[in-house]
Amino acid sequence: MATTHIHAYGTEAATAPLHQLSIERREPTAHDVVIEILYCGICHSDLHQVKNDFGGTMYPIVPGHEIVGRVTAVGDHVTKFKVGDLAGVGCIVDSCGHCAYCQEGEEQFCQNDVTFSFNSPDKVSGGHTFGGYSESIVTNEEYVLHMPESLDLAGAAPLLCAGITVYSPFKHWKVGPGSKVGIVGIGGLGHVAIRIAKALGAHVAVFTTSASKADDAQRLGADEAIVSTDPAQLAAHAGSLNMILDTVSAKHDINAYLSLLKVDGSAVLVGLPPEPLTVGAFSVVMGRKSLSGSNIGGIRETQEMLDFCAEHNITADIELINMQDINEAYERLEKGDVKYRFVIDMASLKN
Ligand code: NAP
Ligand code: ZN
Repeated sequence: MATTHIHAYGTEAATAPLHQLSIERREPTAHDVVIEILYCGICHSDLHQVKNDFGGTMYPIVPGHEIVGRVTAVGDHVTKFKVGDLAGVGCIVDSCGHCAYCQEGEEQFCQNDVTFSFNSPDKVSGGHTFGGYSESIVTNEEYVLHMPESLDLAGAAPLLCAGITVYSPFKHWKVGPGSKVGIVGIGGLGHVAIRIAKALGAHVAVFTTSASKADDAQRLGADEAIVSTDPAQLAAHAGSLNMILDTVSAKHDINAYLSLLKVDGSAVLVGLPPEPLTVGAFSVVMGRKSLSGSNIGGIRETQEMLDFCAEHNITADIELINMQDINEAYERLEKGDVKYRFVIDMASLKN
């Protein structure tokens, strides 16, 4: 298969810093779109996978699944995009297309083999996939999103993962006017979740370990901000929430949050602490509560989310960085020291 060499950033080992690499992208096949990447968000999942937190990372790894850019070429049979269009690529770049979940537009649950933007076996090109910390990406048009023209592009990049990861469970658990929602963790996912839950009409309480983020929560749109390290502040909200969206990236006490749910309430994990969480039986038995999880969202719902965010003018609060500053950004992300999403200005890769 004909390929082109491009510049990217990645690493060969969990403990080695990211640095510039040369990778190959395939020439577009009939249904492929070639996208020059303008911006790529930095998700905590990038960091987890670089560090091999979940096991199974294939090196060299080139992370990045919050990709926005402009179409520079299209395959002969592409109908949904033309050269010059804005385009986005999120976490999913391929799936079987015919199982019950793909048919329902829930490719994230593909029963055969979903291909993620990076660190997945690449069914088309061989080897494994490389993500958005790179000059360009080549993706089947069925997995490419239309970016709304009205949104700031750099601020919209994080919607491709953070946005859909919080929008999908809010829709599934029917968050809307009259719902009281708790959001745990004000990071990349959490701050976008505040904005989306408010736009859906919910009452939003946020739980953070950081007093400075609690002070900022009202500006982000939250109705209430609770410093979660203070047991008295947590206890004041016992039994008050219909749904909790837990975005925390590290081990924490989920029982403390289950106690805040109303009878029949649901706590939904989207954060991926590498270590197992401990759940006390009484935390769910008393009050018929549910503890569940949610994984990104399908392509159709991702487009719906982008259009919803355009309608409500929702983007992420970002710190725009140069590609060369990635290792410092990872150190700060590890400490929760970002307000609230790093986004890479991919023009810097050419410097
Ligand atoms: P992030 O920006 O680092 O935010 C995570 C937040 O969790 C931090 O800002 C912090 O919030 C809180 N936190 C971190 N360590 C903590 C600890 N030890 N105890 C309590 N709170 C802690 O990360 P993100 O990009 O939003 O991603 C969050 C998690 O979701 C990651 O695990 C990521 O891999 C996962 N994720 C899952 C999906 C999915 O489909 N399920 C998709 C994307 C990401 P405060 O400072 O406010 O306390
Ligand atoms: Zn992500």
